[in-house]
Amino acid sequence: MTAMSDDCIFCSIVAGELPSHTVYETEDTLAFLDANPLAPGHVLVIPKAHHERLDDLPEELAGTVLETLYQLVSPVETAVEADGTTVAFNNGPAAGQEVPHVHGHIIPRFDDDDGGPIHAVAGSPPELSDAELKTIADDITDRT
Ligand code: 5GP
Ligand code: ZN
Repeated sequence: MTAMSDDCIFCSIVAGELPSHTVYETEDTLAFLDANPLAPGHVLVIPKAHHERLDDLPEELAGTVLETLYQLVSPVETAVEADGTTVAFNNGPAAGQEVPHVHGHIIPRFDDDDGGPIHAVAGSPPELSDAELKTIADDITDRT
């Protein structure tokens, strides 16, 4: 496992040095309630090892984090009688990531919660031609 980072809040939670309301744990992942929940049952899922961003994770660990998110969606929704969940990562400071230890949010959603879809998080949408879309798509494909 990658060494913990001494000044990381989430590493301190993994090490038991900071309290948290743990809801689920595997060998490599931990899930606990967000301290400032956006809804009742707002859960964070983290790899126990310190990695800053989603794209820093070793491939296998990325799969394990997704598995843990998958395992928790239904129990979270049922526990708080939610109508759905928004499951998302703020990946990097530009996207609003404040804690630099990768974490997936499970945010319970309710029919009448006045929240928005994930489409509401970005700035002004660009107007792109089909040719521009193709160039971008090819560029992404070339880098996979
Ligand atoms: P981010 O903006 O980085 O995606 O989200 C970080 C989340 O971590 C926030 O929702 C915030 O409420 C939560 N958080 C920050 N510090 C703590 C803490 O010490 N304990 C817990 N349980 N959650 C925290
Ligand atoms: Zn950490």
